[in-house]
Amino acid sequence: MTLEKEVASRKTFAIISHPDAGKTTITEQLLLFGGAIRQAGTVKGKKSGKFAKSDWMEIEKQRGISVTSSVMQVEYDGFQVNIVDTPGHEDFSEDTYRTLMAVDSAVMVIDSAKGIEPQTKKLFEVCSMRGIPIFTFINKLDRDGREPLELIAELEEVLGIDAYPMNWPMGMGKGFLGLYDLYNNRVELTHPELNGDNDFLPLNEDGEVDGDFEFKKSSIYDQALEDAQLLVEAGNEFSEEKVAAGKLTPVFFGSALTGFGVQTFLDAFIDFAPSPSAKKTEDGELIEPLEEQFTGFIFKIQANMNPAHRDRIAFVRICSGEFTPGMDVTVTRSKKKMKLSHTTQFMADNRETVRTAVAGDIIGLYDTGNFQIGDTIFSGKKAVQFEPLPQFTPELFNKVAAKNVMKQKSFHKGIEQLVQEGAIQLYKTYHTGEYILGAVGQLQFEVFQYRLLNEYNAEVTMTPMGSKIARWIDEEDLDPNMSSSRNLLCRDRFDQPVFLFENRFAMNWFADKHPDVELKSLL
Ligand code: GDP
Repeated sequence: MTLEKEVASRKTFAIISHPDAGKTTITEQLLLFGGAIRQAGTVKGKKSGKFAKSDWMEIEKQRGISVTSSVMQVEYDGFQVNIVDTPGHEDFSEDTYRTLMAVDSAVMVIDSAKGIEPQTKKLFEVCSMRGIPIFTFINKLDRDGREPLELIAELEEVLGIDAYPMNWPMGMGKGFLGLYDLYNNRVELTHPELNGDNDFLPLNEDGEVDGDFEFKKSSIYDQALEDAQLLVEAGNEFSEEKVAAGKLTPVFFGSALTGFGVQTFLDAFIDFAPSPSAKKTEDGELIEPLEEQFTGFIFKIQANMNPAHRDRIAFVRICSGEFTPGMDVTVTRSKKKMKLSHTTQFMADNRETVRTAVAGDIIGLYDTGNFQIGDTIFSGKKAVQFEPLPQFTPELFNKVAAKNVMKQKSFHKGIEQLVQEGAIQLYKTYHTGEYILGAVGQLQFEVFQYRLLNEYNAEVTMTPMGSKIARWIDEEDLDPNMSSSRNLLCRDRFDQPVFLFENRFAMNWFADKHPDVELKSLL
């Protein structure tokens, strides 16, 4: 296959959702529809053992969750679909956000009984900031949930994105008859056996189904026709450009658990989800996916699951060119040249032939400390540095100290390396020089503690400080007397001054008192 065809066949996306909305269930369905050609890591070990990996960290085994995200590749209808998992639940972290920097579109899964939940909103905002297309799957229609019209309105009101229903549910729960499918001009039935063994029936010119079928006897069908009519007349207009710009989300309904509506969703997703596009460098230059030069950036570094081995895995999103095992690349930041001979499981599955990895694909490189998050690697002579990855404002904080003063050295070394991986952020209190760790999710602290002990033999004490609001200020605005009992003045690891506010009230109070000081957040 030519490079052009390879790249055009790639669809790289992440699923964003609040815990329990059905991300795992729909991922498993997608893997079933396609021939799963490679899976690295797990979907989540807890329900389906077949996706679980044996050498997961102890902490993951204990909790039955995955600490870090993984990549699944599925072949479907001639396309290579890359699903990049976004860790949720307690393992929600900076990694979850950064994964969204490596995908070309996102699928937002919403529980029809719950609507938009907090984590969905946070993840949506990161996607929205990138302007990537967002596809919505409203899940669990086999159960009674909220009114579909109300859910659509919530998408627009809470997330501020226009919504366009591609299909419409005919009932829900026990009365779920199927989908009135405006995109495919048909109805899709949940109970073909009651309707002459028809899964699908075409719509006539009036948007109705001809013939005598069981489902048509229900008032639910009439209601769906009425709703659909309303949508056509009063709803948003479909615009492919708006979808591509992330300004309009196509909405699908279904049930991941029963698999109903998932393939219909997948087919339309394949039609509209973008293939990899050009990526901007630091200098504003665009690197096209078809350029011959191999380029990629590191969006995640994961510790080796086996504590006996110190090495780590760096996840690279390929942006241009073609990856070949053993190729020579340079790390732009350090100018270090290296041979990419040790790639991970994404390249080496059970198949005999190693498939080509091109723009849109994600490869894992064994790392012995050469890479940092945000690094660009390139082949050939022309140095390339992609735009820096955004930093995310941590919300939870812990004081940390070495338990044993004799182990200070390994404590410092461990902290430095783990902070470099980007899973956790480090601060020092301005006045007393104590170490404070900040993270987006709680589990990061436990992982940190576990790894310091197991990999660096340093036992630490952690004192939870709860949630704080972190705001950065400019160095010239800094006056150490601004610090009070309601805020803690610190420096981050780049020596920038940052206040950790007790709560929003404390922050507003500060802002009133120092109107000239600009308080800045990360993302
Ligand atoms: P995740 O936390 O988003 O990965 O959610 P899971 O896929 O683990 O699903 C959470 C729970 O919801 C599980 O008990 C699933 O069986 C259930 N679930 C997922 N999809 C559906 C659905 O379409 N219908 C119903 N009734 N339950 C579902």
